Amino acid sequence: MTRPVPDAPLRGPLVTRPGRALVTGGAGFIGSHVVEALLARGYAVHVVDDLSTGRRSNLDSVAAHPLLRLTVASVADADVARAVCADTDVVFHLAGVVGVQRLRDEPLFVMQANLQSTEAMLAAAAAARVPTLVTSSSEVYGDARVPFCEADPLRPGSTEGLRGGYACAKAMGEWLALAHAAQSGVPTIVARLFNTVGPRQSGDHGMVLPRFVRQAVRGEALTVYGGGRQTRCFAHVRDVARALVDLAESPCVPAAVVNVGSRQETAVVELARMVQRAAASGSPLQHVPFDAVFPAGFVDPPRRLPSLERLHQAIGWVPSTPVQEIVAELVSAARAPGPVGAAARAAASSS
Ligand code: UDP
Repeated sequence: MTRPVPDAPLRGPLVTRPGRALVTGGAGFIGSHVVEALLARGYAVHVVDDLSTGRRSNLDSVAAHPLLRLTVASVADADVARAVCADTDVVFHLAGVVGVQRLRDEPLFVMQANLQSTEAMLAAAAAARVPTLVTSSSEVYGDARVPFCEADPLRPGSTEGLRGGYACAKAMGEWLALAHAAQSGVPTIVARLFNTVGPRQSGDHGMVLPRFVRQAVRGEALTVYGGGRQTRCFAHVRDVARALVDLAESPCVPAAVVNVGSRQETAVVELARMVQRAAASGSPLQHVPFDAVFPAGFVDPPRRLPSLERLHQAIGWVPSTPVQEIVAELVSAARAPGPVGAAARAAASSS
């Protein structure tokens, strides 16, 4: 049945005061920081996570919080998605499978997991009329021209190249989100996340910074793929989490799709040198040809730089912790003696 497209604005504010928030993927790297940010603002937080890529220990800092609840289940299951949407005021959908190495090793799982969980959650949230923030990825831009603006056409690449499959699954999630919003009239925001780094990120599935930090503290060579001149903008995960909650609370989100990330562009080889310096490490740089790591047709975007105009308009600030500071924080956490260092090292080396 076709429904008329409502006149009401379909985006922000998703929520006007701290209430009940559902965070899918809340035991994951970014999700767990969103949970901390929400609890700090007074929300009661229900985490639903199947712990396939997330870890219970990511929530250690808030495990005893009286307003936190954890359900171990997959939101790709429509019954689970419906049940968890029944008693919440806002959804933060972060459940997903990321990492270029995982995409190389398990492409079907990566594409299906992202598509299925997103569709199930969107359908359930629309049916329960719960405003939703869906996280997408800067991968959708592929090798488009920088800076990446939200309204730009996407260039995910050929179906014969693996990387585009993840990009298209995330892009399809966006189209579904916007279609659900148009049909149900439930406010929805899509946040396209750029490279996000910080405590609790695993280095197992790509993710260059935790890999470099782990290599440096172990005295191993830092594996720079290709020439290392490719650039990324690395945002601190705490800034990203705060930006997502601010976006959900913002009354003036200019459009439904919003880039979230940093604009400090850093070449991968520069990042490796930064880690070397911060760790005062004797680890050499080892240039690894890209085709030794990834199959033919796997494109590594040469630059990835967001336009953050919409984000700035919506929340009045953009993530800006300098990458040098993030590197210093991660190196010192990985070097810390006792349980703090052990936790940081364990996080960097497992999913
Ligand atoms: N990279 C690298 N060495 C590594 C892992 C990654 O040089 O051990 C490069 C990778 O080729 C890419 C950049 O670092 O150009 C960022 O990779 P990551 O997997 O963190 O994120 P991406 O931006 O590729 O999604």
